[in-house]
Amino acid sequence: VPFELLRFFSDIIEEQRQFISDDHELTFKITGNTKGFWGDRKLLRQITINLLSNAIKYSPDGGHIEVHLMGNDSHIIFDVKDEGIGIPVEDRECLFQSFSRGSNVGIIPGLGLGLAIVKACVELHSGEITLESQADIGTKVTVSLPKRSV
Ligand code: ATP
Ligand code: MG
Repeated sequence: VPFELLRFFSDIIEEQRQFISDDHELTFKITGNTKGFWGDRKLLRQITINLLSNAIKYSPDGGHIEVHLMGNDSHIIFDVKDEGIGIPVEDRECLFQSFSRGSNVGIIPGLGLGLAIVKACVELHSGEITLESQADIGTKVTVSLPKRSV
């Protein structure tokens, strides 16, 4: 069954709101044609929650967290952007491996599994994931999934 993505994302984002502080602003926007995506709800939910919970956890001083869902004829693309601690250049390569964590996480807890799970879910959908980040400025993770994986 094709997804109603607006409702799907809105529900997850509203759930995650309980974890943000007063210093955070969490916004969601949707642009383009997001109709006709076929995918596994559980996997898409897992991807979204893991990325959003990272954005929240790694921006302990607050800031703007923006979730943007876009669509074109062939893909849905969504990104989660934060103004948090960022990821040092030298750590970026290995963060998709299980149990790997950035050198700047300090006391922020975690197992280092979230992104490895996200990557696996994205690959099951024949999708792609990219990460842009600057230490102390913020991070943006972008996931692109074909509407109908072949
Ligand atoms: P968990 O298994 O609970 O998710 P985790 O958050 O440490 O633990 P991942 O989600 O896999 O594990 O992230 C791996 C590492 O990537 C993190 O430890 C952190 O160093 C870095 N990271 C991920 N997302 C962000 C982000 N939005 N901002 C800054 N660093 C991030
Ligand atoms: Mg995580």
